[in-house]
Amino acid sequence: MRDIIQRRIPVLLADSKIPGPVVWLTACIHGDEVAGTAIVHEVFASLKKSGLKCGAVHAFPLVNSMGFENVSRYINSDREDLNRCFPGDRAGSMGQQLARRLFDTIMKTAPNLVVDLHNDWVRSVPYVLVDPPHIYPTPDVHRRVLEAASATGVLLVEDSDVFHPLRNTLAGAIVEAGIPAITIESGGAFAIDEESVVEGKTAVLSVLQSMGMIDASESIASRKELMTPLMYTNRPLCTTSGLIRFSVSPGQKIKKGQLLARVYSAFGSDEESLRATVDGFVLGVEDHARVLPGKEVIAIAEQC
Ligand SMILES: [Zn+2]
Repeated sequence: MRDIIQRRIPVLLADSKIPGPVVWLTACIHGDEVAGTAIVHEVFASLKKSGLKCGAVHAFPLVNSMGFENVSRYINSDREDLNRCFPGDRAGSMGQQLARRLFDTIMKTAPNLVVDLHNDWVRSVPYVLVDPPHIYPTPDVHRRVLEAASATGVLLVEDSDVFHPLRNTLAGAIVEAGIPAITIESGGAFAIDEESVVEGKTAVLSVLQSMGMIDASESIASRKELMTPLMYTNRPLCTTSGLIRFSVSPGQKIKKGQLLARVYSAFGSDEESLRATVDGFVLGVEDHARVLPGKEVIAIAEQC
């Protein structure tokens, strides 16, 4: 049943009442990516304790309540991905209507930055994802995105629309509207990994500190220099079906040509060896052992 009218999306606000930057945090837009919700809780607890020097922090801590209840990425049984529905449409599908409400609510506050919190494969390292240069309406928006992403202190990775459709994501739509937005992939989906929560909280507080909204502390001291993004790739894809066994782990540095994984048949014969196409770092590896031809099984940050 499409009972969206009956549902409420929780909103949090920490307002210093002193003029300054406006930042939005959004979490759990994919209903099974739950660590972002805990990160928002932790950030707000920290702001309550230590205070906000200026500006305001708004948050949607749990955007996709329907997906959360069903332990699903999607918002409904039509398998509509809310993060492909932005900036949305008041007369559109359920996802587009919801996206429009979220987008308009965020834009009405004239934000300086939107941080969208996601989770990746269960076996993955945290990284911050930014859109490629051609997405930005002006070089200034691109520079401010790189500043915010660099301030997180986590691995900076530039997404590519060769591998993913980037249009219609929340961060993409916000950026196209001229507002900086970044996506933090804070470790694995499904369950809350406390280490990832600490890393995600530190990343967000580091960004707030870089914007002058909170004081520097022993654990939070954001970097000032701009980082150069590594390039995202999901290559090589599988070309056979079978059972995959990885020879590398998330966070591991890899060399072009290095063995990444082998695919075995049910009889145990070696069907395929997947080798690195570039030098870089492993960001994450597939959750399931069963693979099929064309399947994406690994995420890599290419070191150019
Ligand atoms: Zn996601």
